[in-house]
Amino acid sequence: MDPATIQSSTHKIRQVENSCLFCRIVAGEIPATVVHRTETTLAFRDIDPKAPTHVLVIPVAHHADVIALAADPSAAADVLATAAAVAEKEGLTDGFRVIFNTGAHGGQEVFHVHAHLVGGAPLGPMLA
Ligand code: IMP
Repeated sequence: MDPATIQSSTHKIRQVENSCLFCRIVAGEIPATVVHRTETTLAFRDIDPKAPTHVLVIPVAHHADVIALAADPSAAADVLATAAAVAEKEGLTDGFRVIFNTGAHGGQEVFHVHAHLVGGAPLGPMLA
């Protein structure tokens, strides 16, 4: 790849990340109620909670969706480990749900992959 191409693809990546809401939360440009942080992940409360506990767990690195995250097994494992740590911290001993909305039919609105960790009350059947 010639230097101009490298520079333009780097610029493109920066543009994507700069306009990404969750990258901006990672960068501290947008406030969030952070409940847990590791070197590679961030967990913060959903701004519009659908359950008594509703936390979003994201990789610090930008991956658009769970398909992209699956291509980075170490980041995927870190996201799940953080979800488990937050569930423990939040006292979700009776269980919880972890959801990755994916794509248009999955209802994904923010294209920086995030696990919804929801619990704190019986959640009912999954597709109710
Ligand atoms: P999605 O539909 O799976 O992409 O979920 C996006 C989630 O992000 C929704 O549950 C929103 O309520 C949540 N959300 C959007 N903006 C913010 C924010 O600034 N802070 C925390 N959560 C947010």
